[in-house]
Amino acid sequence: MTERAARRLMLVHAHPDDESINNGATMARYAAEGALVTLVTCTLGELGEVIPEELRHLEGSAGLGAYRRQELAAAMRELGVEDFRLLGGAGRYRDSGMMGLADNDDPDCLWQAGLDTAAEHLVAVIREVRPQVLVTYDDNGGYGHPDHIQAHRIAMRAADLAADPAVRPDLGRPWRIAKVYWNRVPRPVAEAAFARLKDDLPGLPFDESAAIGDVPGVVGDERVTAAVDGSAYAAAKTAAMAAHTTQIEMAEPYFALSNQLAQPVFTTEFYELVHGERGAGEGERETDLFAGVDLFAGAEKESVMSTGGGGPMLAQPLKPPSAGRAAAYLGLFLLGAVVAVAGALVQAAWFPGGLLLALAGAAGLFLGGARAARSRGGAVAGAAGWIVTVFVLTTSRPEGDFFFAAESGSYLFLLGGMAVAVICATLAPGRQRHEGDARLGK
Ligand SMILES: [Zn+2]
Repeated sequence: MTERAARRLMLVHAHPDDESINNGATMARYAAEGALVTLVTCTLGELGEVIPEELRHLEGSAGLGAYRRQELAAAMRELGVEDFRLLGGAGRYRDSGMMGLADNDDPDCLWQAGLDTAAEHLVAVIREVRPQVLVTYDDNGGYGHPDHIQAHRIAMRAADLAADPAVRPDLGRPWRIAKVYWNRVPRPVAEAAFARLKDDLPGLPFDESAAIGDVPGVVGDERVTAAVDGSAYAAAKTAAMAAHTTQIEMAEPYFALSNQLAQPVFTTEFYELVHGERGAGEGERETDLFAGVDLFAGAEKESVMSTGGGGPMLAQPLKPPSAGRAAAYLGLFLLGAVVAVAGALVQAAWFPGGLLLALAGAAGLFLGGARAARSRGGAVAGAAGWIVTVFVLTTSRPEGDFFFAAESGSYLFLLGGMAVAVICATLAPGRQRHEGDARLGK
């Protein structure tokens, strides 16, 4: 049985680095709190300029996308985010370049993508993950980059399509996202930060300050409905930004892109709620993107369970095994039989030390099976094959004592294997189990 985190946040971004700059503190905070954080990045940013001299050869080369993919993975490690994906798979949509360039006409670029086709890739992810909260850019992409505008359109379209049962039922059960936010920075916050930057500039490795207009999503205070205080995760955010080595140069609490213009790093991140019920009083800003969300809405077909220290979880019923899954279980069952025979021979040859070795082999199989099948069922299938085989060997005793040095040894082996199987099935994690998500019942 797989279990979902109760709180599930999805972010849609254009290029690797946008997520860390815009939402790094938010992502780190929710990941640390045990929420499932899912990042979908639309392109690999193949057309980005490269800052470090020693990596400059990557600029304009086919290798930059692959390199930035590694930077993204490193950034996600800093943020503690495990679920990050590329829209339609790696390389499906190319960077479109800055607005007005010939790159915008590349038939493979995101700007040229059919909106519904691109959105359907995201619909599949939304229906799988079932996020209550979606974060993306405003309709100008924050600052007018074609990929950012397109990422906005794809996210908004996919949120609609995912909820429509008539759309691509093969992509999963419909899911309605409760709240949609756009990334924002309140103008007074930006102004104060740039005033500090002006004072600090002489001590920075950057010659000039960027302008407020260079910061995506700056709007008047009145449009900003949520402020997520991620100051406790400032170090994670700056480390994630620094992981995008080709794109960002850090000088905390400032950074610069390839234009070498200094900008402030914001560790309180701001949002405008554009869809859904506001979870704060009139005139107040939300401090939690999940405020007011019914975490169990839409979970009518899912059982709600409470685990020891982990707080409420949504548990998804085991799906009927597909042909592929059934084949995997059968394979693990047969592998269990092979490991059992090998283990019996080992423990007979080197009894009693061999007994421990054989049981360790069984434990490896059971845990490996759970990992391979991404469910406890894998451990159970392997254990079933192992136990049945050892039972047959123990009771039938073919060829005298060929398989067992002593009768007591055969029963020790059988009982030991059963104990190992129970321990492994208990230890084997469900796929998306987030033990820490205990804070939702406030
Ligand atoms: Zn970008």
